Amino acid sequence: MDRDSGFFDRDLETLTPEGRGAYQGRRLREVLRVAAECTSHFPARLKAAGLSLDDLKSAKDLDRLPVLKKAGLPELQKQDPPFGGLLAVPAASLRRIFVSPGPIYDPCGSVPDYWRLARAFYAGGFRKGDIVLNTFAYHLTPAGGMCEDALTVLGCVVLPGGVGNTDTQVKLIHDLKATGYVGVAAFLATLLDRAGEMGIDVKGTWRLQVAFVSGAMLPESLRAGVRQKYGIRVRQAYASADLGLIAYECPQQDGMHLADDLIVEICDPETGQPVTPGTPGEVVVTTFDEVYPLIRFGTGDLSALTPAPCPCGRTSSRITRILGRADDVTKVRGMFVHPGQIDEVMARFPEVKRYQAVVTRRGNDDDLLLRVETVARTAPHGMDTTILDALRAGIKLRARLEYVPDGTIPDGATKILDRRTWN
Ligand SMILES: [Zn+2]
Repeated sequence: MDRDSGFFDRDLETLTPEGRGAYQGRRLREVLRVAAECTSHFPARLKAAGLSLDDLKSAKDLDRLPVLKKAGLPELQKQDPPFGGLLAVPAASLRRIFVSPGPIYDPCGSVPDYWRLARAFYAGGFRKGDIVLNTFAYHLTPAGGMCEDALTVLGCVVLPGGVGNTDTQVKLIHDLKATGYVGVAAFLATLLDRAGEMGIDVKGTWRLQVAFVSGAMLPESLRAGVRQKYGIRVRQAYASADLGLIAYECPQQDGMHLADDLIVEICDPETGQPVTPGTPGEVVVTTFDEVYPLIRFGTGDLSALTPAPCPCGRTSSRITRILGRADDVTKVRGMFVHPGQIDEVMARFPEVKRYQAVVTRRGNDDDLLLRVETVARTAPHGMDTTILDALRAGIKLRARLEYVPDGTIPDGATKILDRRTWN
């Protein structure tokens, strides 16, 4: 165990592929045994799939077990309250119980940094002695507590700010010389702006150096602006109340490394089978948590694996940012397309006012038509080809483009209109 990091094993971050396979296999067999012996849900699930523990010996065997969808958790918990038969310890031994939208009850075990976020904070530059304002909610939902627990094991001083109270929080950062911020990115921007309005010389007097954001999209323009203007380094992570840390950014800020102490598969949302690297799919997670062992848990979030190794030296695979909800994907010519992917491409064309992708059947093939309204009356020469090339690079699909008159695409229209009929 690394001396600086205390409660998490940094050696895991640089395992060889063989070492990682062996480590994951050992932890997987342990957690499956716990789930089989100590929960009422998992034995029934194994039986329904016609499997025994001997069939699931390594991460590669996991896809034999159907995905447990997060969307089904409220119903499971209703049928077998409060934890749907998924908890492997007596509820009386937990430290806290939270509730997330759904509603879903979230158990919190009694080990330090139960959600394993310390690794992400460490990679984000948080160190012992940092004074950190934590603006995530502390009540009912676990975000505030999740981050506080991780900061505590790293030896940081936590200012439990919670949500809102902008002026008070600005004063906290100022008076207590906070060095770190935790929360959503937009609130960091709000605090910085408000400090300026309150006449504070942020650049000259504040010591804020690191920010850890999660829970919402981080616009790269915001990240770059905060870094340039105030010298604050913003990093993000992907975590959930059910699973704790799933993935986190390293100093490269190019995708998020998968946490070492769980198994992540990116799967076809319909079949639950792993897709090839680079293809978007649902994030399916198996934890090694012996308190609340979630096995092949379908988060409903959509992302894609980045196959290239990372220059930072961490050897775990990376995923892209969360592209959206798996429910919103449309399959076109066998490829998943999410509105977020099209948004990402179209954001590069300020000449485009509105757009909508329309999927139809032409003979035995899917047809993808991109309808575009432009800002000016006529589109710049050759823009259609540029857009289609960018789209092809972004979503790996060929499309056609049609300029349509102003007002053709209604406000709030769905980004991907599926008009296919299957007779
Ligand atoms: Zn890296």
